[in-house]
Amino acid sequence: MQSYGGTPGARQARCTRQILWAEELGMCFGVRDALRVLGEIARPAEVTIHGELVHNPEVLRALDRRGFHRSPEATRGVPATPVVLVTAHGISDRERARLAAAGKTLVDTTCPLVRTVHAAARQLAAEGRRVIVVGRRGHVEVRGITEDLRDPIVLEAPGEARPWPEPRLGIVCQSTTPPALALEVVAAVRATNPGTDVRFVDTICSPTRARLAAVQALLPHIDMLVVVGGAASNNTRQLALAAAARSVRAVHVETAADLDPATLAGAERIGLTAGTSTLPATVDAVAARLAAFAAARAPTAART
Ligand code: SF4
Repeated sequence: MQSYGGTPGARQARCTRQILWAEELGMCFGVRDALRVLGEIARPAEVTIHGELVHNPEVLRALDRRGFHRSPEATRGVPATPVVLVTAHGISDRERARLAAAGKTLVDTTCPLVRTVHAAARQLAAEGRRVIVVGRRGHVEVRGITEDLRDPIVLEAPGEARPWPEPRLGIVCQSTTPPALALEVVAAVRATNPGTDVRFVDTICSPTRARLAAVQALLPHIDMLVVVGGAASNNTRQLALAAAARSVRAVHVETAADLDPATLAGAERIGLTAGTSTLPATVDAVAARLAAFAAARAPTAART
Protein backbone atom coordinates (compact mmCIF):
# COMPACT_ATOMS: atom_id res chain seq x y z
CA MET A 1 0.00 0.00 0.00
CA GLN A 2 1.29 3.41 -0.96
CA SER A 3 0.95 6.20 1.55
CA TYR A 4 1.16 9.61 -0.09
CA GLY A 5 3.09 12.38 1.62
CA GLY A 6 2.62 15.33 -0.73
CA THR A 7 5.06 18.02 -1.81
CA PRO A 8 6.38 20.84 0.42
CA GLY A 9 3.74 23.21 -0.96
CA ALA A 10 1.01 20.81 -0.08
CA ARG A 11 2.36 20.28 3.42
CA GLN A 12 2.07 23.98 3.96
CA ALA A 13 -1.58 23.76 2.97
CA ARG A 14 -2.00 20.90 5.38
CA CYS A 15 -1.13 23.23 8.26
CA THR A 16 -3.87 25.79 7.61
CA ARG A 17 -6.16 24.06 10.15
CA GLN A 18 -8.99 24.34 7.68
CA ILE A 19 -7.91 21.66 5.22
CA LEU A 20 -7.77 18.19 6.70
CA TRP A 21 -6.07 15.52 4.63
CA ALA A 22 -7.29 11.96 4.78
CA GLU A 23 -4.62 9.72 6.29
CA GLU A 24 -4.57 7.60 3.12
CA LEU A 25 -5.35 9.13 -0.24
CA GLY A 26 -4.40 9.24 -3.87
CA MET A 27 -2.41 7.06 -6.17
CA CYS A 28 -2.09 3.38 -5.33
CA PHE A 29 0.93 1.24 -6.07
CA GLY A 30 -0.85 -0.55 -8.93
CA VAL A 31 -1.36 2.64 -10.92
CA ARG A 32 2.02 4.05 -9.92
CA ASP A 33 3.82 0.93 -11.18
CA ALA A 34 1.88 0.99 -14.46
CA LEU A 35 2.84 4.64 -14.99
CA ARG A 36 6.47 3.83 -14.20
CA VAL A 37 6.48 1.16 -16.92
CA LEU A 38 4.97 3.63 -19.38
CA GLY A 39 7.59 6.19 -18.44
CA GLU A 40 10.34 3.71 -19.36
CA ILE A 41 8.97 2.98 -22.84
CA ALA A 42 11.34 4.50 -25.38
CA ARG A 43 9.12 4.36 -28.49
CA PRO A 44 5.57 5.23 -27.46
CA ALA A 45 4.40 5.41 -31.08
CA GLU A 46 4.79 1.61 -31.29
CA VAL A 47 2.58 0.98 -28.28
CA THR A 48 -1.20 0.84 -27.88
CA ILE A 49 -2.58 1.14 -24.35
CA HIS A 50 -5.28 -1.52 -24.34
CA GLY A 51 -8.23 -0.42 -22.24
CA GLU A 52 -8.33 2.72 -20.16
CA LEU A 53 -5.09 2.94 -18.20
CA VAL A 54 -6.53 5.13 -15.49
CA HIS A 55 -9.76 7.05 -15.20
CA ASN A 56 -7.80 10.26 -15.10
CA PRO A 57 -8.05 12.65 -18.08
CA GLU A 58 -4.89 14.52 -17.07
CA VAL A 59 -2.78 11.39 -17.25
CA LEU A 60 -4.37 10.33 -20.53
CA ARG A 61 -3.68 13.68 -22.14
CA ALA A 62 -0.01 13.43 -21.10
CA LEU A 63 0.24 9.97 -22.67
CA ASP A 64 -1.34 11.24 -25.87
CA ARG A 65 1.27 13.99 -26.01
CA ARG A 66 4.04 11.41 -25.75
CA GLY A 67 2.63 9.59 -28.76
CA PHE A 68 1.05 6.47 -27.25
CA HIS A 69 -1.93 5.00 -29.05
CA ARG A 70 -4.99 4.18 -27.01
CA SER A 71 -7.82 1.69 -27.53
CA PRO A 72 -10.20 2.42 -24.66
CA GLU A 73 -12.47 -0.46 -25.67
CA ALA A 74 -10.07 -3.25 -24.78
CA THR A 75 -11.93 -6.07 -26.48
CA ARG A 76 -12.71 -4.51 -29.86
CA GLY A 77 -10.42 -4.97 -32.81
CA VAL A 78 -6.71 -5.64 -32.88
CA PRO A 79 -4.45 -2.65 -32.27
CA ALA A 80 -2.28 -1.70 -35.25
CA THR A 81 0.91 -1.25 -33.24
CA PRO A 82 3.34 -4.17 -32.67
CA VAL A 83 3.25 -3.68 -28.88
CA VAL A 84 0.14 -3.71 -26.70
CA LEU A 85 0.19 -2.55 -23.10
CA VAL A 86 -2.21 -4.27 -20.72
CA THR A 87 -3.30 -1.81 -18.05
CA ALA A 88 -3.43 -2.26 -14.27
CA HIS A 89 -7.11 -3.23 -14.67
CA GLY A 90 -6.02 -6.44 -16.43
CA ILE A 91 -7.62 -8.41 -19.25
CA SER A 92 -9.00 -11.92 -19.62
CA ASP A 93 -6.86 -14.88 -20.65
CA ARG A 94 -9.06 -15.10 -23.72
CA GLU A 95 -8.18 -11.56 -24.71
CA ARG A 96 -4.51 -12.18 -23.97
CA ALA A 97 -4.59 -15.22 -26.29
CA ARG A 98 -6.38 -13.22 -29.01
CA LEU A 99 -3.66 -10.55 -28.96
CA ALA A 100 -0.86 -13.11 -28.90
CA ALA A 101 -2.43 -14.92 -31.87
CA ALA A 102 -2.42 -11.60 -33.74
CA GLY A 103 1.35 -11.43 -33.22
CA LYS A 104 1.33 -8.66 -30.63
CA THR A 105 4.00 -8.28 -27.98
CA LEU A 106 2.36 -7.67 -24.62
CA VAL A 107 3.65 -5.37 -21.92
CA ASP A 108 1.61 -6.42 -18.93
CA THR A 109 1.02 -3.95 -16.07
CA THR A 110 -1.91 -5.84 -14.53
CA CYS A 111 -2.02 -4.99 -10.83
CA PRO A 112 -1.14 -8.00 -8.67
CA LEU A 113 -4.32 -7.38 -6.70
CA VAL A 114 -6.42 -7.63 -9.85
CA ARG A 115 -4.66 -10.93 -10.59
CA THR A 116 -5.86 -12.03 -7.15
CA VAL A 117 -9.47 -11.38 -8.20
CA HIS A 118 -8.99 -13.42 -11.39
CA ALA A 119 -7.43 -16.27 -9.41
CA ALA A 120 -10.26 -16.28 -6.87
CA ALA A 121 -12.89 -16.34 -9.62
CA ARG A 122 -11.09 -19.20 -11.37
CA GLN A 123 -10.88 -21.14 -8.11
CA LEU A 124 -14.60 -20.69 -7.43
CA ALA A 125 -15.40 -21.85 -10.95
CA ALA A 126 -13.12 -24.86 -10.48
CA GLU A 127 -15.17 -25.75 -7.40
CA GLY A 128 -18.19 -26.05 -9.67
CA ARG A 129 -19.73 -22.73 -8.65
CA ARG A 130 -21.43 -20.21 -10.87
CA VAL A 131 -19.45 -17.04 -10.28
CA ILE A 132 -20.96 -13.71 -9.29
CA VAL A 133 -18.83 -10.57 -9.58
CA VAL A 134 -19.85 -7.60 -7.46
CA GLY A 135 -18.85 -4.60 -9.55
CA ARG A 136 -19.74 -2.17 -12.28
CA ARG A 137 -21.11 -3.66 -15.47
CA GLY A 138 -18.92 -2.77 -18.42
CA HIS A 139 -15.96 -1.70 -16.29
CA VAL A 140 -12.75 -2.90 -17.90
CA GLU A 141 -11.68 -4.84 -14.80
CA VAL A 142 -15.03 -6.59 -14.51
CA ARG A 143 -14.95 -7.45 -18.19
CA GLY A 144 -11.50 -8.97 -17.77
CA ILE A 145 -12.67 -11.12 -14.87
CA THR A 146 -15.91 -12.30 -16.42
CA GLU A 147 -14.68 -13.07 -19.94
CA ASP A 148 -12.91 -16.21 -18.77
CA LEU A 149 -15.95 -17.51 -16.87
CA ARG A 150 -18.89 -19.60 -18.02
CA ASP A 151 -22.18 -17.77 -17.59
CA PRO A 152 -20.97 -15.21 -15.02
CA ILE A 153 -23.30 -12.85 -13.17
CA VAL A 154 -22.44 -9.21 -12.44
CA LEU A 155 -24.26 -7.49 -9.59
CA GLU A 156 -24.03 -3.77 -8.89
CA ALA A 157 -26.50 -3.63 -6.01
CA PRO A 158 -28.19 -5.96 -3.52
CA GLY A 159 -31.57 -5.39 -5.18
CA GLU A 160 -30.30 -7.21 -8.28
CA ALA A 161 -29.95 -10.54 -6.44
CA ARG A 162 -32.51 -13.19 -7.37
CA PRO A 163 -32.84 -16.96 -7.10
CA TRP A 164 -30.47 -18.94 -9.31
CA PRO A 165 -30.87 -22.65 -10.04
CA GLU A 166 -27.23 -23.62 -9.39
CA PRO A 167 -26.65 -25.42 -6.07
CA ARG A 168 -23.28 -23.71 -5.65
CA LEU A 169 -22.47 -20.03 -6.12
CA GLY A 170 -19.19 -18.15 -5.65
CA ILE A 171 -18.83 -14.41 -5.17
CA VAL A 172 -15.84 -12.12 -5.78
CA CYS A 173 -15.67 -8.31 -5.96
CA GLN A 174 -14.21 -5.82 -8.38
CA SER A 175 -11.13 -4.62 -6.51
CA THR A 176 -12.53 -1.13 -5.88
CA THR A 177 -15.92 -2.18 -4.50
CA PRO A 178 -16.89 -0.48 -1.22
CA PRO A 179 -16.73 -3.14 1.52
CA ALA A 180 -20.22 -2.31 2.86
CA LEU A 181 -21.75 -2.73 -0.60
CA ALA A 182 -20.03 -6.09 -1.07
CA LEU A 183 -21.41 -7.37 2.22
CA GLU A 184 -24.92 -6.17 1.36
CA VAL A 185 -24.80 -7.95 -2.00
CA VAL A 186 -23.51 -11.16 -0.42
CA ALA A 187 -26.28 -11.04 2.19
CA ALA A 188 -28.88 -10.46 -0.54
CA VAL A 189 -27.58 -13.39 -2.60
CA ARG A 190 -27.74 -15.64 0.45
CA ALA A 191 -31.24 -14.43 1.31
CA THR A 192 -32.58 -15.00 -2.20
CA ASN A 193 -30.86 -18.38 -2.52
CA PRO A 194 -31.60 -20.22 0.73
CA GLY A 195 -30.21 -23.71 0.73
CA THR A 196 -27.56 -22.79 -1.87
CA ASP A 197 -23.90 -23.24 -1.03
CA VAL A 198 -22.63 -19.65 -1.38
CA ARG A 199 -18.92 -18.95 -0.96
CA PHE A 200 -17.70 -15.37 -0.81
CA VAL A 201 -14.06 -14.44 -1.42
CA ASP A 202 -13.38 -10.84 -0.45
CA THR A 203 -11.17 -9.45 -3.23
CA ILE A 204 -11.41 -5.75 -2.44
CA CYS A 205 -7.91 -4.30 -2.68
CA SER A 206 -6.19 -2.91 0.37
CA PRO A 207 -5.58 0.62 -1.03
CA THR A 208 -9.28 1.01 -1.79
CA ARG A 209 -10.18 -0.20 1.66
CA ALA A 210 -7.63 2.12 3.30
CA ARG A 211 -8.79 5.22 1.41
CA LEU A 212 -12.42 4.59 2.29
CA ALA A 213 -11.58 3.94 5.93
CA ALA A 214 -9.55 7.15 6.08
CA VAL A 215 -12.47 9.15 4.70
CA GLN A 216 -14.86 7.54 7.19
CA ALA A 217 -12.51 8.60 9.98
CA LEU A 218 -12.36 12.14 8.64
CA LEU A 219 -16.09 12.73 8.15
CA PRO A 220 -17.01 13.51 11.77
CA HIS A 221 -14.45 16.33 11.78
CA ILE A 222 -15.32 18.17 8.57
CA ASP A 223 -18.09 20.31 7.08
CA MET A 224 -17.44 19.19 3.56
CA LEU A 225 -15.19 16.89 1.55
CA VAL A 226 -13.25 17.62 -1.62
CA VAL A 227 -12.60 14.46 -3.62
CA VAL A 228 -9.98 14.62 -6.37
CA GLY A 229 -10.06 12.17 -9.25
CA GLY A 230 -11.45 11.26 -12.64
CA ALA A 231 -15.20 11.52 -13.08
CA ALA A 232 -15.30 7.93 -14.37
CA SER A 233 -13.15 6.53 -11.56
CA ASN A 234 -15.11 3.99 -9.54
CA ASN A 235 -13.15 4.28 -6.31
CA THR A 236 -13.11 8.10 -6.51
CA ARG A 237 -16.88 8.16 -6.87
CA GLN A 238 -17.21 5.87 -3.87
CA LEU A 239 -15.25 8.30 -1.71
CA ALA A 240 -17.75 11.05 -2.52
CA LEU A 241 -20.67 8.68 -1.95
CA ALA A 242 -19.28 7.76 1.47
CA ALA A 243 -19.54 11.41 2.47
CA ALA A 244 -23.04 11.77 1.06
CA ALA A 245 -24.14 8.69 3.02
CA ARG A 246 -23.15 10.49 6.22
CA SER A 247 -24.81 13.75 5.09
CA VAL A 248 -21.48 15.47 4.55
CA ARG A 249 -21.36 17.62 1.43
CA ALA A 250 -18.86 16.37 -1.13
CA VAL A 251 -17.39 18.07 -4.17
CA HIS A 252 -15.75 15.85 -6.78
CA VAL A 253 -13.16 17.61 -8.95
CA GLU A 254 -10.79 16.30 -11.58
CA THR A 255 -8.33 19.19 -11.38
CA ALA A 256 -7.72 22.31 -9.31
CA ALA A 257 -9.32 24.38 -12.06
CA ASP A 258 -12.66 22.63 -11.40
CA LEU A 259 -12.75 23.96 -7.86
CA ASP A 260 -15.38 26.67 -7.54
CA PRO A 261 -14.98 28.83 -4.41
CA ALA A 262 -18.78 29.24 -4.29
CA THR A 263 -19.18 25.54 -3.52
CA LEU A 264 -17.03 25.97 -0.40
CA ALA A 265 -19.35 28.55 1.14
CA GLY A 266 -20.03 27.91 4.81
CA ALA A 267 -17.39 25.22 5.17
CA GLU A 268 -14.89 25.87 7.97
CA ARG A 269 -13.17 22.50 7.93
CA ILE A 270 -12.66 20.96 4.54
CA GLY A 271 -11.58 17.36 4.15
CA LEU A 272 -9.38 16.34 1.24
CA THR A 273 -9.07 12.94 -0.36
CA ALA A 274 -8.28 11.47 -3.77
CA GLY A 275 -8.88 8.31 -5.75
CA THR A 276 -6.29 5.68 -6.52
CA SER A 277 -5.57 7.00 -10.02
CA THR A 278 -5.08 10.64 -9.01
CA LEU A 279 -1.62 12.09 -9.53
CA PRO A 280 0.07 13.47 -6.40
CA ALA A 281 0.66 16.73 -8.31
CA THR A 282 -3.08 17.08 -8.92
CA VAL A 283 -3.86 16.61 -5.23
CA ASP A 284 -1.21 19.18 -4.36
CA ALA A 285 -2.65 21.66 -6.83
CA VAL A 286 -6.14 21.25 -5.38
CA ALA A 287 -4.77 21.64 -1.85
CA ALA A 288 -2.90 24.78 -2.84
CA ARG A 289 -6.03 26.28 -4.41
CA LEU A 290 -8.07 25.43 -1.32
CA ALA A 291 -5.44 27.11 0.83
CA ALA A 292 -5.52 30.16 -1.43
CA PHE A 293 -9.31 30.38 -1.08
CA ALA A 294 -8.98 30.05 2.70
CA ALA A 295 -6.37 32.80 2.84
CA ALA A 296 -8.48 35.12 0.68
CA ARG A 297 -11.49 35.06 2.97
CA ALA A 298 -11.80 36.84 6.33
CA PRO A 299 -10.01 34.85 9.04
CA THR A 300 -12.26 32.75 11.21
CA ALA A 301 -11.48 30.86 14.37
CA ALA A 302 -10.99 27.20 13.49
CA ARG A 303 -12.99 24.86 15.64
CA THR A 304 -11.05 22.25 17.51
S1 SF4 B 1 -7.04 0.26 -7.14
FE1 SF4 B 1 -6.29 -1.60 -6.13
S2 SF4 B 1 -6.49 -3.19 -7.67
FE2 SF4 B 1 -6.64 -1.23 -8.76
S3 SF4 B 1 -4.56 -0.78 -9.41
FE3 SF4 B 1 -4.82 0.19 -7.43
S4 SF4 B 1 -4.06 -1.33 -5.91
FE4 SF4 B 1 -4.42 -2.39 -7.85
